[in-house]
Amino acid sequence: MSPHDEKKPTDFIRTIIEQDIARNLNNGQVVTRFPPEPNGTLHIGHAKSICLNFGIAEQYPGSRCHLRFDDTNPEKEEVAYIEAIKEDVRWLGFDWGDHLYFASDYFERLYQLAEVLIEKGKAYVCSLSADQMRSYRGTLTEPGKESPYRHRTVEENLTMFRAMRAGTYPDGAHTLRAKIDMSSPNINMRDPTLYRIRRVPHHQTKDLWCIYPTYDYTHCISDALEGITHSLCTLEFEDHRPLYDWILDELKDELPCHPRQIEFSRLELDFTVMSKRVLTTLVTGHHVSGWDDPRLPTIAGIRRRGYTPASIRHFCRLIGITKAPNHVEMALLENCLREDLEINAPRAMAVLDPVRVILDNLPEGYQEEITVANHPQNPGLGSRTIVLTREIFIERDDFEETPPKGFKRLIPGGEVRLRHAYIIRCESVLKDPKTQAVTAIVCHVDKDTMNRAPEGRKVKGVIHWVSAQRHCQAEIRLYESLFLVPHPLDHKAGGSFLDHINPDSLKILNHCPVEESLAQWQPGRPVQFERLGYFALDHRDSNPGRPVFNRSVSLRDSWAKEKTKSQ
Ligand code: ATP
Ligand code: MG
Repeated sequence: MSPHDEKKPTDFIRTIIEQDIARNLNNGQVVTRFPPEPNGTLHIGHAKSICLNFGIAEQYPGSRCHLRFDDTNPEKEEVAYIEAIKEDVRWLGFDWGDHLYFASDYFERLYQLAEVLIEKGKAYVCSLSADQMRSYRGTLTEPGKESPYRHRTVEENLTMFRAMRAGTYPDGAHTLRAKIDMSSPNINMRDPTLYRIRRVPHHQTKDLWCIYPTYDYTHCISDALEGITHSLCTLEFEDHRPLYDWILDELKDELPCHPRQIEFSRLELDFTVMSKRVLTTLVTGHHVSGWDDPRLPTIAGIRRRGYTPASIRHFCRLIGITKAPNHVEMALLENCLREDLEINAPRAMAVLDPVRVILDNLPEGYQEEITVANHPQNPGLGSRTIVLTREIFIERDDFEETPPKGFKRLIPGGEVRLRHAYIIRCESVLKDPKTQAVTAIVCHVDKDTMNRAPEGRKVKGVIHWVSAQRHCQAEIRLYESLFLVPHPLDHKAGGSFLDHINPDSLKILNHCPVEESLAQWQPGRPVQFERLGYFALDHRDSNPGRPVFNRSVSLRDSWAKEKTKSQ
């Protein structure tokens, strides 16, 4: 059993794999790969693919999963993304061991195999321009037209392909194409391009190449060279499978194996966007603060927001693997985090919108240290000391002068319990003479009520508080969804997806009193601020003595609330 998960997952891909193992196909071994293109950082959709590929390798003895960078598009790729992607995969809890590969490692081999295709009469150098090629390609309803260069001799093709490599021709002058079938109903089979001339330095191979292989040509051969048994990809590659198989069949004498491609549906999440291209627009257009903006569904963003690897893996198990559309509500993701943090996050108190309370029967300078458990049910999380002083802060909305019906918190003449401390009674209210805003609430402490309720007294409300003398000031960031519509990229939503950005997706609260214990909080350690939600220290913007906390998720499902409101 995998070290991560309680129960073995099952899905149609694992069923196929188990049948293959039972037949002793590939000597009973399973080799998968996660093949990101390093043109952006990973998002939670990629997490689905990572959990599938690495999860399978963990589940079946003797199996392994490779991390392979599909780096055939040097203009868009960066070394920084390679490092970020590795960090994200590791953070999710997976390990590729010695099996880190780059498609660019195979450029020489890919070139030689292209010569083999030419020699077999299965590839030719085409001199149509990109525009011409497009018009020759045909449409979904009309067949394509054969290129006038399709019948070049093997010798001429070889000479020209070698000259392409040697840099004899300008960019775009020729391409190498597979010779398949211009009238195929599958457009991917209409003599697809295998190589292009592009004078672009590559982050791995530098200036060594001025021709680059296409993704379709590279991917299947890379899989075969690495001995991949099951090449798992998303459904948009289904129409490319005939080409994947065609290339491997034509080169079967040169390659060690023929991996099986199996497709599953992409994860789509409500109220966000999940394609690297679109995420790049948000980042480069400064609509968010960077790839790790906590509002983004990137792994770096949700990590900064306070998601845990366990919650993401749990989420990926819940959504499962199928071929059916996989549109998932954000509430499901958030619930996975809540479930994890409910038992694993220590608790503390913070006040977001403070109003001062004066406990008038405590002397000036009063300090009472109270030892409290960090979690009501999880003693493993230890305890801490909080300090009660004559002046404290509570939330402004925990007090109402003219309370609505059913209001259980502090009202003039009424009582509430201070969390982990005493019952207090409101005696009077101090106001700004000009604005009439409440500046302080004067209360009386009943020192006889620590951890007990005197008989006959009904005190329903319990409110959180922080000492006005002994606290630390924090910046607290609250988030809402980045988009106002569930499917921002859907044309039905109208306009550009940028028009649907939620202007209130980030709310910054600058001077929030929080318990002193939070001044030295560790990055990556979650915390529940009682009654307010789960929070995580922002590792980028926090300073010593001035922590910044991101709200990871509220305590309850606010999406459900929204839904009932709009019904
Ligand atoms: P994007 O459109 O976001 O750039 P991509 O598919 O181009 O995604 P790759 O780097 O090529 O990104 O993806 C690596 C692997 O992750 C591929 O096997 C791809 O199928 C898978 N993947 C990408 N997005 C998702 C998703 N939303 N759900 C599941 N798997 C995904
Ligand atoms: Mg891609």
